[in-house]
Amino acid sequence: MKITYLAKLGELVLKGSNKNAFESKLVRNVREFLKHIPVDIILRAGRMYVEVEEENCPQVEFCLSHLIGITGWAKTFICEKNIESITDMVTDLGKAAKENGAKTFKIDARRSDKSFELDSYEIMRKAASGLYDNKILDVDLHNPDVTIWVEVREKCFVYTDSKTGCRGLPVGMSGKGLLLLSGGLDSPVAGYRMLRRGMRIECIYFHSYPYTSDEAQKKVEDLAKILSTYGMQTALNIVSFTDVQMLIKEKAPESWSTLALRMCMMKAANMVAKHIGAQCLITGESLGQVASQTLENMQVTESCAELPLLRPLVGLDKEEIIDTAEFIGTYDTSILPYEDCCVLFSPRHPVLKATLEEAQEIYNKINPDELIKKAFETRVVKHFYAFESL
Ligand code: ATP
Ligand code: MG
Repeated sequence: MKITYLAKLGELVLKGSNKNAFESKLVRNVREFLKHIPVDIILRAGRMYVEVEEENCPQVEFCLSHLIGITGWAKTFICEKNIESITDMVTDLGKAAKENGAKTFKIDARRSDKSFELDSYEIMRKAASGLYDNKILDVDLHNPDVTIWVEVREKCFVYTDSKTGCRGLPVGMSGKGLLLLSGGLDSPVAGYRMLRRGMRIECIYFHSYPYTSDEAQKKVEDLAKILSTYGMQTALNIVSFTDVQMLIKEKAPESWSTLALRMCMMKAANMVAKHIGAQCLITGESLGQVASQTLENMQVTESCAELPLLRPLVGLDKEEIIDTAEFIGTYDTSILPYEDCCVLFSPRHPVLKATLEEAQEIYNKINPDELIKKAFETRVVKHFYAFESL
């Protein structure tokens, strides 16, 4: 049996003359995600329909729950376009909800096909009669246990279980960024925020093996894999920074070790970004969260970036970041205990208000450019694709 999923298009419906480009990108993303599964995809009037054999429903549901560009989606039941069939379908879904414990319901009807015999108010009133008159469920318009949606379009769709989508713009419409991805909570959320603006993302991770463990790297690979399910695909550039960190430890004042490391990370990120054609760098920094994230220190970090440095979390607090991490499924991985390189080398009393002059002086003293270049040249790249997670 074929099942039809209905997805509501997000912000892209507000686009003007280039709306078609956004819509066709969204459809191409679904096709790419479901490349090994036969599906029919139709776009019509702010809706996308995905038709699939029942056995492939789990894959389609995984795709739609990770797809950026839709505000919501639902598995629908299709009935004939007359009020008797609609009422029967609504009654069946209401009975099923009652078996799952529902006591009250409401109907939300929409009539896009204006030639249909009844308007949306009349559809709601008549379709409710099967449940209400037979005392199967009570009506509660404000806080119902179940909402039954009826959409009369080219076909008639009825559904109860409406899911929230990721919203945003289809990935691939807003250029490409390089995300500095550590194993923490913040940077995966920062990446997701930019994916939601339609940006494609590649990642860069710095490790200091053997001071950091294989588990720490595995954790970052797992995070990159989760990001690929929202971003269609990503690559993780794994860069060994052990020698750079040792040099910093040897040459820089202890209070500067974190900030000097950030400066070196930016320099390496510039090289990778240029190599892959990224137009910006992205970090998970949030103002005031830790010592390296005062305005002064962020200015020092930024002074080493040769591309725009985007910090999508800069104004968010930790709870907001955690909420998103839980929603996108990175939280459980991020809180695993393995240290990343910054923690092991972090100073007891980090500098809080660095100046650009001092930063330049210390950087020149460390003179890490050659080691950074070597780290860039010996990086290892791993690729992750959304369809591999199905
Ligand atoms: P996160 O939770 O993202 O690790 P954090 O709160 O631990 O962030 P910092 O350790 O100061 O904060 O890192 C600030 C930002 O610098 C991170 O969000 C990330 O973008 C980048 N970063 C830090 N360490 C690394 C690393 N080892 N590899 C790649 N990027 C890193
Ligand atoms: Mg961190």
